[in-house]
Amino acid sequence: MKRFHIALIAIIWLSANTLFAQITPSPNRAEGEGPFTQLIIRGVTLINGAGAPATGPVDVVVQGNRITQIKMVGSPGVPINPDKRPKANPGDKEIQAEGMYLLPGLIDSHAHIGGTSKDQSAEYIFKLWMAHGITSIRDPSAGNGLDWVLEHKEKSLKNQITAPRIFAYTAFGQGAKNGINTPEEAREWVRDNQKNGADGIKFFGASPDIMAAALDENKKIGLRSACHHAQLNVVGWNVLNSARAGLTSMEHWYGLPEALFEDRIIQHYPLDYNYQNEQNRFEEAGKLWKQAAKPGSEKWNAVMDELLSLDFTLDPTFNIYEASRDLMRARRAEWHENYTLPGLWEFYQPSMESHGSYWHYWGTEQEVAWKENFRIWMQFVNEYKNKGGRVTAGSDSGFIFQLYGFAFIRELELLREAGFHPLEVIRAATLMGAELLGQEKDLGSIEVGKLADMILVEENPLVNLKVLYGTGAIKLTKENEVVRVGGVKYTIKDGIVYDAKQLLADVKKMVDDEKVKRGNWTLKQPGEE
Ligand SMILES: [Zn+2]
Repeated sequence: MKRFHIALIAIIWLSANTLFAQITPSPNRAEGEGPFTQLIIRGVTLINGAGAPATGPVDVVVQGNRITQIKMVGSPGVPINPDKRPKANPGDKEIQAEGMYLLPGLIDSHAHIGGTSKDQSAEYIFKLWMAHGITSIRDPSAGNGLDWVLEHKEKSLKNQITAPRIFAYTAFGQGAKNGINTPEEAREWVRDNQKNGADGIKFFGASPDIMAAALDENKKIGLRSACHHAQLNVVGWNVLNSARAGLTSMEHWYGLPEALFEDRIIQHYPLDYNYQNEQNRFEEAGKLWKQAAKPGSEKWNAVMDELLSLDFTLDPTFNIYEASRDLMRARRAEWHENYTLPGLWEFYQPSMESHGSYWHYWGTEQEVAWKENFRIWMQFVNEYKNKGGRVTAGSDSGFIFQLYGFAFIRELELLREAGFHPLEVIRAATLMGAELLGQEKDLGSIEVGKLADMILVEENPLVNLKVLYGTGAIKLTKENEVVRVGGVKYTIKDGIVYDAKQLLADVKKMVDDEKVKRGNWTLKQPGEE
C-alpha cells in the first residue's frame, strides 16, 4: 500500500515526508545481550534457509557477529558425545537448544516503518518485527523521509537501537518539488537518490518514457528497484515493460494480470468507476485475474517464461489483500486486542478517506470474487517458484488490519497455501529475500561466514508455521489442558541475542499505556457503541 493519504494518491510525486509528521524515532537500545567473543548454540535442529531439510543436533558457533562453525554433533534422540562438541572458553555464551529449531533471521521484503496513524512509534514497529524474528526489512518508499530512514539504518547497523537491518528504497520523485516531468529529470533524480545514500527506488508507475529512463539510469549506477504498478499508469506500462527495463521486483500483483491480457487492453472498469473511491478500486481489482489469460495458456506461459528469463522477482504480499476475501478474519485476528494501537485500529475502520479502509459495503459477493482472484494469483506465483523464479515474503503491514510482524507470519502461511513446501516458504522469507536485496553473501541462510542473524523457536515451524506468531499456536496437551506453544524465543541479530517474548511484552505495554492515556480506550468493532 502507498503511505499516501487517499486524496493525494494520484499525486505520486509528492514527498511523503511533506505530508506526514515523521513517527517518533527509536530510543537507544536497552535490549539484547552480546555480541559475544564466542556464542555457541548447542544441540539445535538446523533449518538453514537455503532449502536443506532440517538436520541436527548441531552446534553452531558465532564469533562476534559472524557464524564461524556449524558442527553436526550426533543423531536425534541419542546422547551427544561431549568430545565431538566445539569447546567453550571461559566467558563464552552458551545456549542449550536441544529440541529447538534454528532458522535464519527473517526478511520482510515490503515493510513500511509506520503508516498514517499518529500513535505509532518506530520502537513499536521495530519491536513487533524483532519479536517475530524479522532481522532485515526493505522499506519501500522511505515514508518517514530518506534522511530519517538512513539515520535509523545506520543506528541499526551499529546496534544502537533495537531494530532490524533497514534497506531504504525511496519513493520515486520524493523531494522533487514539481514532480518528475521529463526523462532527463528522471535520470537526474535517480543519480541524486544514489548520492543521498538510498539502496534503491520504489516506483508506483509513471509514463513509459519516464519509467524507461529512470530504470535505465538506476540499473547503470547499480541500485535496485521495486514497483507497485498502480492502475493509473498500468495500461502503458505493465510488469513486463518494467522487467524488460531492468526492474528488480514487482510488489503486490497489479500490472501482472494486465501483462496477461489477451482479449482487452484495459481492465473492465464499470462505467461509473472512480479510482479514488476505494470500494471501487478494490472491488474491481478482485475481478482482475479472471480477465487475464487462463492458467496454462500460451500467453500465461509466455509471460511467465519471459519474467523468468529476466531473473525478475515477485514480492506478492498476499496477506495485505486477505481482508478482501475474508474481512472478519482480518478484523478479528486475536492479536488486535493486545498489540494493535488505538490509532492504528481507528485507521483501519471503514472510511472514505483512509487508505485501505474500503469497507463501504463489503459483502459476500466481494469476498467470493476475491477468493477466486487469490486462487489464480496463487497459481501463478507457485508455478513461478516451481520454474525456478524468485519469490519473496513481504507484508506491507500497517494497513487493512495487518499488524507488523504478525502479518509477515500470515504471509508465510499464504505462501504455504499457494503451494510452497514449508522449506520453500522459509527460503522465500530468508535466502530469496537476501538475494532480492543483493545481500546473499552476508544474509539469508545459516552458513559459515555469514552474519549471525538467526532465530530460535521451541517448536518445529515446518510442521506448523503458526508457531512463529507472537501469540503462538494453540495445542491440547495429553492432560486435556489447552496451552500456547511457540512464538520466537530468541531473535539473534548481528550476534546479539534478544528475548523475543520480552520485546512483545514491551509492545503490549506501549499499547496498554496508550489505552490508559486515552481514558481506558477499549477496542470496538465497527458500528459498535
Ligand atoms: Zn506498500
